[in-house]
Amino acid sequence: MRVIGKEDLLEPLNRAALKIAREVADAKPGNFMAGNISNSNIWDPADPAKQAEVRSMFEEMVGWAVEEGADLIIGETFYYAGEALAALEIAKASGLPVVLTLAPMAFEEMADGVGVVETAQQLEQAGADVVGLNCFRGPETIMPWLKQIREKVSCHVGALPIPYRTTAEEPTFFNLSDVRATVPSPHGRTFPTALDPLLNNRYEIGAWAKEAYDLGINYLGVCCGAAPMHIREVAEAVGLTTEASRFSENMSNHFMYGSHDRLPDHIAELGATA
Ligand SMILES: [Zn+2]
Repeated sequence: MRVIGKEDLLEPLNRAALKIAREVADAKPGNFMAGNISNSNIWDPADPAKQAEVRSMFEEMVGWAVEEGADLIIGETFYYAGEALAALEIAKASGLPVVLTLAPMAFEEMADGVGVVETAQQLEQAGADVVGLNCFRGPETIMPWLKQIREKVSCHVGALPIPYRTTAEEPTFFNLSDVRATVPSPHGRTFPTALDPLLNNRYEIGAWAKEAYDLGINYLGVCCGAAPMHIREVAEAVGLTTEASRFSENMSNHFMYGSHDRLPDHIAELGATA
């Protein structure tokens, strides 16, 4: 919003989103509504004035969340350890529970040179109720960090990967290549507009969520690129049935691969060879 000169819209947009979220949460008992702060993208570890500016932004946004009735504060996608700790301190001052998740880039440490696990430990010690990782990394490359964090902290651990097939060689969705693309994006990256063929299927996300849950990682979701089916798979992987569960695939009704009584036998026979 700052880049395009629309700062004036920040407060009305934030408050409108918070009001919608509150309404949705209130529609079903047991739902929570979170206020959110995240990477400011102006934090500078060498510039105290810039840090003060970021802190005042966080204070303002946490204030809106509290006023609109948030049950908890989420701070997410921090790639600077210092910014994550500042966000936590300000979120904690609200008195609400705080989830704080980090997003390490391909260089496998925080951008101010602090270790990822060390940052998670510092956040726990500073009072975060949930620490973990979100965004940038798909299931395969978020997991090694999560396992280490789970071993080194005793608070809840959270994880929200992006649903893309990142690899050790291409650990974030900023790095992903697509060797089968016949037309490259005009900007030279698959991120963010040519990632489509690199999406995880729903079963991959479900298997990841089950593995994470079995490791004791119990704040789970899917970040940028998630489709409703991915979120549903995460919920079902931990034993929940969602309203959308009734839309899960039912191949028994498929015209050619199904087994329903109403399907003609000769078409099902095509399915055996097609
Ligand atoms: Zn994201």
